[in-house]
Amino acid sequence: MTETCIAILGAGLAGLACARDLAAAGVAVTLFDKGRAAGGRLATRRGEAAGRRLQWDHGAQYLTARGAEFAALLGEAGAEAWGEPARFVGVPGMSALPRALAKGLDLRAGRHVTSLAGAPGAWVVRHLEAALVRPGQALPVVEPAEDGPFDAVAIALPPAQAAPLVARPAPGLRARIAEVGIAPCWTVLAAFETRPDWPDTLRPDAGPIGWLARDSGKPGRDASAECWVIQGGPDWSRAHLEAEAAGIGPALLAALPPAPAPIHLGAHRWRYSLVERPLGEPCLWLPEARLGLAGDWCLAGRAEAAFDSGRALAAAMLGA
Ligand SMILES: Cc1cc2nc3c(=O)[nH]c(=O)nc-3n(C[C@H](O)[C@H](O)[C@H](O)COP(=O)(O)OP(=O)(O)OC[C@H]3O[C@@H](n4cnc5c(N)ncnc54)[C@H](O)[C@@H]3O)c2cc1C
Repeated sequence: MTETCIAILGAGLAGLACARDLAAAGVAVTLFDKGRAAGGRLATRRGEAAGRRLQWDHGAQYLTARGAEFAALLGEAGAEAWGEPARFVGVPGMSALPRALAKGLDLRAGRHVTSLAGAPGAWVVRHLEAALVRPGQALPVVEPAEDGPFDAVAIALPPAQAAPLVARPAPGLRARIAEVGIAPCWTVLAAFETRPDWPDTLRPDAGPIGWLARDSGKPGRDASAECWVIQGGPDWSRAHLEAEAAGIGPALLAALPPAPAPIHLGAHRWRYSLVERPLGEPCLWLPEARLGLAGDWCLAGRAEAAFDSGRALAAAMLGA
């Protein structure tokens, strides 16, 4: 009997959860991700300034576990508790969690998937070196590499990134996922020589700031580094989405009580951060097309929803 081969596009938590369950069932799984490593929005940025090593969790700030299975997974991946009510973070950075979960899986990192060719039961994944692809610009005119054939494909990408891939093979899916809404988030990565007079975390009810956290106060970080994450709220981030990154740090700092001059001030634009209007189903699976979709956006704006969705898709693909 020939082995079942499944391609998984996206190695965020949804793709990893799907891959782990399929692999445990004996399926040969190949993951593709445009990032340099697995993780997606579970991410850690590193830097250096004034002779100090710096780092920030610039995506998900902490994870919560409502279900026992996600709690067990966090334990397996080495997550540690941070603050109350029960919040968990990767150590030494959030990216350690997906790195641990990806161990033993066949991950093609740095590959931007551009299209699916072939046909149901014999899908071919076409992909380019991610460094050649500029966000918001037309794809470069380069012959893509191809992998396959795959018996089925799981697409674990945010809806806007999944849409062009499903447009030809499953046009009906495009309309379904167009209803989903995900807020953007400008995230400022700041570091100081001395601690600003700010609380360890802050979630204002109104105004430009959505969330503030002393990242270097999380377990396993260098507490003396004074690395802080400042997120713009969804409305503010939406209103400033196309602004120059250089202006974002000063604008959000100005909305906080005065701080010492930063030794580092950068900003990351997340076009897709927290889900505002989920699909309302754990995943989408089209058995005739042998295509499925998963991601946090199916269920809710938190990492556990990505895990649940990825597992739901694996179960659907296995016919459970
Ligand atoms: C700023 C921010 C703060 C957050 N805070 C929290 C929090 O505190 N707690 C919480 O629980 N959740 C939080 N979240 C949400 C959480 O990070 C997500 O719910 C979860 O990580 C989503 O996982 P996913 O696998 O569905 O998607 P993603 O993590 O987005 O994974 C999708 C993957 O697809 C890849 N990809 C996209 N297009 C392509 C392509 N064409 N080819 C190849 N690869 C591609 C991407 O590189 C990415 O790795 C936050 C998110 C952000 C951005």
